[in-house]
Amino acid sequence: MSQNVLGYAATAPASDLAPFGFQRRDPRPDDVVIEILYCGVCHSDLHTARNDWGWTTYPIVPGHEIIGRVSAVGSAVTRFKAGDRVGVGCLVDSCHTCPACESGEEQYCDGATYTYGGTDRHDHSITQGGYSEKVVVSEAFVLRIPDALDLQAAAPLLCAGITTWSPLRHWKAGPGTRVAVVGLGGLGHMALKLAKALGADVTLFTRSQGKEQDALRLGADRIVLSTDPAQMAAVAGRFDLIIDTVPYVHDLNPYMPALATSGTLVLVGYLGALDPFLNSTPMVLRRKSVAGSLIGGIKETQELLDFCGEHGIASDVEVIRIQDINHAFGRMLKSDVKYRFVIDMASLKA
Ligand code: NAP
Ligand code: ZN
Ligand code: ZN
Repeated sequence: MSQNVLGYAATAPASDLAPFGFQRRDPRPDDVVIEILYCGVCHSDLHTARNDWGWTTYPIVPGHEIIGRVSAVGSAVTRFKAGDRVGVGCLVDSCHTCPACESGEEQYCDGATYTYGGTDRHDHSITQGGYSEKVVVSEAFVLRIPDALDLQAAAPLLCAGITTWSPLRHWKAGPGTRVAVVGLGGLGHMALKLAKALGADVTLFTRSQGKEQDALRLGADRIVLSTDPAQMAAVAGRFDLIIDTVPYVHDLNPYMPALATSGTLVLVGYLGALDPFLNSTPMVLRRKSVAGSLIGGIKETQELLDFCGEHGIASDVEVIRIQDINHAFGRMLKSDVKYRFVIDMASLKA
């Protein structure tokens, strides 16, 4: 049993996204059926549509910053009812029993099921994402959206928000710590807002002239043009934590001197081999680390949403129609997003 759903899919690495009809399962006892109102556009959607990581299965409906209203619930659902404002991020399932799941870090479960391009562990179907009318998700992976948050602006919290919140919390950003963010895009602008709200001293590294005023408004105390060696030298030894959101291969070596002793540079963007090689000398001489971090668990995502509700934090969004998604991808490739596209899913029916 299943229901027909309309979405937008990529069918090959070089294809534009185009209308695509597919099936969603009828709800299982623990499932929540969500009518999708908005979906954020993450750079991971673009990487996946273009098969940048080499693991895309086609056709693929991207979208993992999903905001909607509950339209129906399965018989065993206890936490949600029709009409509730809810969100779904990058995960729709996990094994529930491994140490990662037991510690609330489902993103590090070997059986974690991604919202799109994942394999459902019950019926082995390939999951499809939020550039679509509705989604059916186990209630354990459904987030509650605080009433104080605007629904459009809340969508990016479900990936860009949690992906920057998790390392900020893990490496204990707060008063007295110095945090830097590399790249002012979707993740970067949330990192600035969240680091500031946690009480850290915040710096933006950017390649782009012209983002200064926005960066200061979003929470940066200063910006550093990463293309200017004098500006880079001026922040030597400064940062406890650098969150690097750059999506493509880039040189980490210029950032390592900017870390303080015992500081950590966390990669959340680029996946793959670094080029050129990373010079270990500044790391060894000052106990510096390079780390990675993947989204966040469900409990931590709800904590982020509640924190944002209490502190009035959400994303700066440009709302688009689904018909404009290919143009939006093109602008994202030029780092021309202020600072997250969010699709108004009502446009699907236009
Ligand atoms: P985005 O909105 O396109 O922002 C990326 C920013 O990086 C750009 O605005 C630009 O900032 C900078 N940049 C872009 N290309 C660059 C290059 N070639 N060299 C140096 N800087 C460059 O992307 P996003 O949605 O924030 O996603 C960023 C990355 O994080 C993507 O790779 C995405 O797949 C990944 N991601 C990872 C996770 C995770 O769990 N780890 C979760 C979500 C997304 P400036 O103009 O300021 O330089
Ligand atoms: Zn994402
Ligand atoms: Zn698990």
